[in-house]
Amino acid sequence: MKVKKIEHIGIAVKSIEEALKYYEGVLGLECYNIEEVADQKVRTAFLRIGDIKIELLESTSDDGAIARHIEKRGEGVQHIAFAVEGIEEALADVSAKGLQLIDSKPRKGAENLNIAFLHPKSTLGVLTEFCEE
Ligand code: ZN
Repeated sequence: MKVKKIEHIGIAVKSIEEALKYYEGVLGLECYNIEEVADQKVRTAFLRIGDIKIELLESTSDDGAIARHIEKRGEGVQHIAFAVEGIEEALADVSAKGLQLIDSKPRKGAENLNIAFLHPKSTLGVLTEFCEE
């Protein structure tokens, strides 16, 4: 399999509007897209830094993954997303190597990317997302 680059870093926040006061107001980055991903129960905001992005994740429901993350660990880094070449093959490859998948097949994520998550138990504690355009 081939990992091409870090596509984005996912950061759980309680409020995108509040978080943008820091990311835009202090750091001077620019949010270029906010969208809701209904099946993940999140609103996402994207900011570009050079070749990679920050994805701010705000829960739209009390029982979503982001709500649970914030409840357990507070706001902060939630996942790292790697751009891979051939996401289905990449998933089959890591699965064959014994890693546990959260998504056995890719699904549509924010920014119309095909995404799938690997279980942090298999990735040294880092919730890992594979994505492909
Ligand atoms: Zn992500």
